[in-house]
Amino acid sequence: MDIVQLSMFDGKVCSKCGEFKPLTRYRLHTPRNAGKLRNDCMDCQAAYTKAWRESHPGHQERKNEQQRRLIALHPERREKKNARSRIQRREAYHADVEQARSKNKELMRQWRRKNPELSRAYSAVCRARKRFPIDAPFFTADEWIALCRKYNYQCVCCRRELGLSPDHVVPVTKGGTNTIDNIQPLCVYCNMGKGVSDRDYRIEWELSE
Ligand SMILES: [Zn+2]
Ligand SMILES: [Zn+2]
Repeated sequence: MDIVQLSMFDGKVCSKCGEFKPLTRYRLHTPRNAGKLRNDCMDCQAAYTKAWRESHPGHQERKNEQQRRLIALHPERREKKNARSRIQRREAYHADVEQARSKNKELMRQWRRKNPELSRAYSAVCRARKRFPIDAPFFTADEWIALCRKYNYQCVCCRRELGLSPDHVVPVTKGGTNTIDNIQPLCVYCNMGKGVSDRDYRIEWELSE
């Protein structure tokens, strides 16, 4: 069957399961029959692949190992392929910028919903990072999460649980670094009130525990 236009309402009967399914449930053939759809549906194809893998234990691992060896042997091939797909992605993006953006946004939303802690941490680190050169060494989102968890997601000064943000114990203007050992979680109020005094609330927290 030639592909004129794929739509949800066009369909055909799968050669394996015999069910009528929309054309979007059929993959394209390999280059040998390029431009044509397969006769078996995606579900049958997936079931076949799964059964085959189960009857050939270790095959996937060997294949992966082989792949790794090839990449190590010819790193330039991998680089070439990556460059090609980068160009393809860019072209696809520019072909329909609006759609690509809204798809991106939706993917981001989904990811944020699934990873609320990490997404908040990324935002916090990004905000803090903005004031510094892009290549300056900086604490990571994971380190920030570990620090917040250590203090039960409370402000180390007032113990409120409100929009924590990273605060430099020794200000950068006084030679403080952007590494996690110079960072304490403060709430918005304490962060604003603290100004450039370099009080280490972490010590007081630890003494009071
Ligand atoms: Zn089928
Ligand atoms: Zn506070």
